[in-house]
Order: sequence, then structure tokens, then C-alpha cells
Amino acid sequence: MANNIEQMDALLVGAGIMSATLAALLKEFDASFKVEVIEQRSREAQESSDPWNNAGTGHAGLCELNYTPEAADGSIDNQRAVRINCQFEESKQFWSHLVAKGALGTPRDFINPTPHLSYVSGNKDIRYLRTRYEALTRHHAFAEMVFAEDHATLAKWMPLMMQGRRSDERLAATYAAGGTDVDFGNLTTQLLTYLGKLDGTTIAYNQKVTGLQRKDNGWLVTIKNRLTSESRQVQSRFVFLGAGGGALPLLQMSGIPEGKGFGGFPVGGQWLRCDNPDVIKQHGSKVYSRAAVGAPPMSVPHLDNRVVNGKASLLFGPYACFTTKFLKDGSIFDLPFSVRPDNLWPMLAVARDNTDLTVYLIKEVLQSHAKRLDSLRQFYPTLNPADWRLEIAGQRVQIIKKDAKKGGILQFGTEVVAAADGSIAALLGASPGASVSVSVMIDLIERCFPSRAKAWNNKVADIVPARISALESSAATYNDIRARSDKLLQLI
Ligand SMILES: Cc1cc2nc3c(=O)[nH]c(=O)nc-3n(C[C@H](O)[C@H](O)[C@H](O)COP(=O)(O)OP(=O)(O)OC[C@H]3O[C@@H](n4cnc5c(N)ncnc54)[C@H](O)[C@@H]3O)c2cc1C
Repeated sequence: MANNIEQMDALLVGAGIMSATLAALLKEFDASFKVEVIEQRSREAQESSDPWNNAGTGHAGLCELNYTPEAADGSIDNQRAVRINCQFEESKQFWSHLVAKGALGTPRDFINPTPHLSYVSGNKDIRYLRTRYEALTRHHAFAEMVFAEDHATLAKWMPLMMQGRRSDERLAATYAAGGTDVDFGNLTTQLLTYLGKLDGTTIAYNQKVTGLQRKDNGWLVTIKNRLTSESRQVQSRFVFLGAGGGALPLLQMSGIPEGKGFGGFPVGGQWLRCDNPDVIKQHGSKVYSRAAVGAPPMSVPHLDNRVVNGKASLLFGPYACFTTKFLKDGSIFDLPFSVRPDNLWPMLAVARDNTDLTVYLIKEVLQSHAKRLDSLRQFYPTLNPADWRLEIAGQRVQIIKKDAKKGGILQFGTEVVAAADGSIAALLGASPGASVSVSVMIDLIERCFPSRAKAWNNKVADIVPARISALESSAATYNDIRARSDKLLQLI
């Protein structure tokens, strides 16, 4: 082990979109900050931030039906969708700020305008979609959304999906022109390339964090070089565990009391992918529908136009698969080794209470390629099987946490777990993920750097002129800010 211990203000584990966003924010707030990003793979964005390991949906609540569940009385609460929409507008403001100052290259390399649609069939789901449309369009963030049931309009919105339909099929959709497709892998690369040029920022690849120990008023971090097997140590005042599926084992390694009771439930993913240009040109949008019974929210089926490295494709899915690995590059022992006395009961309680999910996963694992194509036929009845091949969609680790009533619950969102003194924080969970990375990282900074928060307030106002509450409450502010971001990001 090398003897000299390097000193850092912030050490960020993992070179995905979350660490890249946090590093960029910290350097905006204080250019003198010494920041190191440690990544075990040979380059950035190789796990969940890889463009094929997420759907690239700029989640804004426009099309995801799981953000607007139906209450027992048939009513729909629009609050979650409104919040996610405004969080996405915070992300867009930060990306616009970086584009305006020349830190990012052409926006079209990472964000593209792509209409977002929700699509359902049958009377019950059509009633739900209409009620959802009425609930959403009461808020200014969704003013542009339109609803239709007639086949002529639906054929204009989603020509590929309307081919071969019977004229008496009961179908409906909502259409939001202002949706986006985001290549989070490209964005991560652009952010880290920019950061790598700044004084006091290091991005280290092929290096794995193998030890975390409290020392002085920070952490002594042991890092192993995967190419030479040599280890070194870094002393950092603040550590961010932005290790995706690898964040839980690192949180457990830190031993902080706030991390006790957390467990992880890994779910692998797969897509069907089409690269036939004649098919792709007939589907320029993202169309989300309802999830099957027992399916986790991230398994809502959708047929998406994707732009990755400037090239369009279609993807459909995701299909879940069983895995015990926390990362694509992980070990089959990740799940068993994560079981501890403090999370055993929450994990057992989740297994007891989620039989629907278990049945769903068994069905998914056992299904054949022909069955997968049958699911896609619900969207695209006239598909040619030869156009579609399987693509890996990466791993997600859903959060299992203690619950006073049930013993343990499975949580499908994202959660930041931070030490009381703010010296270390971990990001757990997957959804809505990358789209809300800016809001999540600003909140994390406010929690972990309370003594700097006041001084950094003005910087936040420069970077994100309208925060969520202003966007939610004022139509004029929302429209002005969105128009500005859309212009800078070339979305108009
Ligand atoms: C199937 C699927 C679909 C999704 N769709 C969307 C979507 O449409 N829109 C959206 O906004 N979000 C989506 N998400 C969520 C989004 O992909 C994630 O929220 C986001 O990519 C997480 O980024 P991250 O930086 O936290 O993690 P990652 O990108 O996974 O990066 C973590 C990094 O940490 C590294 N690492 C791990 N352990 C260590 C260690 N010990 N030492 C050093 N490095 C380590 C890993 O190698 C990896 O590079 C989706 C996710 C999945 C799985």
C-alpha cells in the first residue's frame, strides 16, 4: 500500500450520472474544492447510466401511469407527477446553464425532443386515462397534454402501433409534445470530460473502493487499482457512495447507524431492440402503458424511440429477470453477502408480503422469446420478429427498508441515506433516477454541507433560477423558465 495519504474535500464513488452531477454542482459552488471520482470500470457510465441500461426517458410525469395511481373512489392525485415534472425542469435548468457557459457540447448529443404518450385499451383503463388526463391538465405543467380515443387521431400520434387494428378496438391515448429522450451515458461522459479539465478534479478509472473507515472529521478510503492490484488511501472530508447497485455494500461497510436495516432486492432487465430504419421512422415517440399485476413500477411496458450516439433505434420492455448480482460487473454472492442481522427481518417481511412480485418474476424468467414478442404485439400488432433482438437492460437494486407496521417494505423510488454529521451519503434505489439527478444532488448538498448552504444559496439561484416550489405554484414562472431551457437545449 502506498504510504502517502492524499487529502480531498469530496470523494465520489462511481462514475455514473449521479457522481458526475454532484461533482459538477460542487465545482460550481466552490471552484477550489478538491474532488476525486473513483470508478472501478475502465470508463464512465458502464452500469445503469449506460444508454442501453436505462430507457432514456426524461421522466416528467407526462406518460408514466405509475406516477398517478387511482384511489379506491376512482379519483387521481396529480401531486407526484407534478413534482417529478418540476424536478425534471430543475435538471434542464442545470444542463442549460452548463450549455450556456460552454461546459457541455451540442445538446442534441444528449437530449432530443420526443413526444410522450400514455396508451391503454378497454373501457376500464380508458376511464382511468381520461380521469388522469383531467387531473393532470388542471396543473399548468401539463397544459399541453391532449386526449383522444378516435383511431384517426391515434394513427397520427402512433402510426406504427395503429397498423392492423380492428376498427372496433377500444383504445385511448394522451399525447404530450414536450417529452424528451435523454442519453444519460453521453451526458455523464460530457460532464466528466469537462470536470477532468478543471483544477482540483481527478477522475480515476480501474480503481475500486475496498475500505471505508471514519478518521478525524472525515473518512479514510482505501482504493485498489484493478490493473496493478496496488492499494492507496485517500482522506476525504465528505464521501458520496454513488455506486449504483454497489452503494448498499459500501453503505454497510461504512457502519453508519443511519444505514442499518436497509437491504437490496436486485432485478435484472432486458429489452427488445429494433434497428430497422423503415420501422423506426414510423415511431418517433415514447409510449407507456399499464404494468401487469404484480409487476414492479419500473417494469411498466413501453415502446420507445431512442437516440444513442446520434443513431435512432426502438426499444420495448423492460422484461425483468432474476439475478443475485447488484451490478452487471458484480458477483452472484452480492445478495447473500448483503444479508445482515439488522436487515434480515425487513427482507423476510418483504418476501412474505410480495407474492405478486414473486409470481411476476417467475413468469418473466420462464417466458420464451415468442412470449416476449406477444407482449410487444399488444403495442405493435404487425411486427416482424426478424426486426427484434434482445438487449441487456442492466441491473437495479430496489430498496428494502424497515417499517414499523409491516417489518419491512420494498421501495421503488430513490433514497439518500446520509450520516447525521453529513460526512457520508449513499444513493439507493433506481426510479425516477437520472432524470431527477440535479434535484436529488442539490438536496444532498444542502443536507451534507449545512454550514456552506447559506453561502452557496446565491450559486444555486444562478444555476437553477426557479426551484420546485416556484415551478409548481406559478404558471408564469414555469412557462418562462421552461421556454428558456428548451431554447438553450435546442428542444424547440
Ligand atoms: C432498466 C432501467 C431503466 C431505467 N430507465 C430510466 C429512464 O428512462 N429515465 C431515468 O431517468 N432513469 C432511468 N433509470 C434509472 C437510471 O438509470 C439510474 O437512476 C442512474 O443511471 C443511476 O446512476 P448512478 O450514477 O447512481 O449509478 P450507475 O450509473 O450504475 O453508476 C455507478 C457506478 O459505480 C461504480 N461502482 C460500484 N461500486 C464501486 C466501487 N466499490 N468502487 C468504484 N466504483 C464502483 C460502477 O461500476 C458504476 O459505474 C433506469 C434504470 C434501469 C436499470
